[in-house]
Amino acid sequence: MDLLEYQAKDLFQKVGIPILPSQRIDHPKDLKQLRIPYPIVLKSQVYAGGRGKAGGVRFAENTIDAVAAAQAIFHLPILGQYPEVLLAEAKYEPDQELYLAVVLDPSLRRPLLLGSREGGMALEATSRQIQQVLVDGEFSPFYARRLAIKMGLTGELIESVSAIAEKMYRLFLTYDLDLVEINPLAVNPAGEVMALDGKVTVNDAALGRHPDLLAMPSGDSHRDCFANRPALSALAMGPTCGVAASAFDLPNLNPMLFPGSLGILCNGAGLTMATLDLVDRAGGQPSACLNLGGESSYRLPPDTLCDRLEKGLDWILQTQRLRSVLLNLLGGADTCNAVAKAIARYLEQQRPPVTVPLVVRLGGAHAAAARKQLAALDLPMLFVLDSLDEAITKAIALSEGARVGR
Ligand code: GDP
Ligand code: MN
Repeated sequence: MDLLEYQAKDLFQKVGIPILPSQRIDHPKDLKQLRIPYPIVLKSQVYAGGRGKAGGVRFAENTIDAVAAAQAIFHLPILGQYPEVLLAEAKYEPDQELYLAVVLDPSLRRPLLLGSREGGMALEATSRQIQQVLVDGEFSPFYARRLAIKMGLTGELIESVSAIAEKMYRLFLTYDLDLVEINPLAVNPAGEVMALDGKVTVNDAALGRHPDLLAMPSGDSHRDCFANRPALSALAMGPTCGVAASAFDLPNLNPMLFPGSLGILCNGAGLTMATLDLVDRAGGQPSACLNLGGESSYRLPPDTLCDRLEKGLDWILQTQRLRSVLLNLLGGADTCNAVAKAIARYLEQQRPPVTVPLVVRLGGAHAAAARKQLAALDLPMLFVLDSLDEAITKAIALSEGARVGR
């Protein structure tokens, strides 16, 4: 569960991470009873990042400015989401903007401290400079100091920044967080540090242990509908809304049918579930979803995979209401080549022709060449994309009936 910035800052305050005086704004007219002095900054409270760039962070010198800015921000969607509340905050004049975070390293199953001297909105461009310190034993302030030094900080900043990292770590443990991030951690000319923005993700499985977090107002109906919705798997309808998968000779492939319009085809159970989750999170409406199997290429030779791919496509393409199909396939060089050829062959040989667009994301060590070959064929119903995010966005847009076009 993600928290909004103002909720994250409530937690920061509890552990003594410095934040500016602020006030929640539910309506532009609340600004007439503002308790913090001007100049202020008004910030859209949405879960998406990149508010600064999108125009969701505005400065105001007086009430007239502030009301106008608030009206603009309330009407500004950020990645499709409108804020239900804003945060009004005292304006700070940073000299320097740092980045700090604590995340759980999923493969090592240990917390990881992250930091960079280039924080703020410039972070994306410089993400290579994020320093890491793995907390591989019992935590001590030593880890936080090591991060500050790795970040290249000097003088008193080593102490003040590592003190914040330490508090973030305590927060991370106390509340079972997946992520706590401060970007930017601003440093003013006097060398004082201040958390200007905060992001907190609570581990969903641990929410039961934190009734205080669960009780936080969501401030956003999007999260409510997300949290209260039955698990997607509970919506699976069985083979009744199309033709039974067994008729397509798909033994043990465990096909799933959902009531939406976006078909999903992957190789590997984990990849299939992850793709289904990502499509769901991005607001897509899955239709038939099929795992072709083959978590490891040793177990599933490319020919077998291609054979299943064709049968899987046959099955998915006949499901009702289908408007697009996302193929998210991973493999080594042989698999990628074979899969690219199989998809091309399938599209070229179908009679009548396939009229539902296929969005292909091929990943793996040597996938680039296969993707290039496939894209070069310039088949009308085929979209080949490099990134999974882009592929998902494209497939969802197509499944919602957007015009087919490149
Ligand atoms: P994000 O773009 O969604 O990460 O939103 P942020 O809250 O991080 O704000 C974006 C940028 O606005 C920050 O990187 C800062 O440069 C700037 N900013 C935010 N709050 C303040 C503030 O109180 N004072 C000043 N001067 N800049 C701010
Ligand atoms: Mn930020």
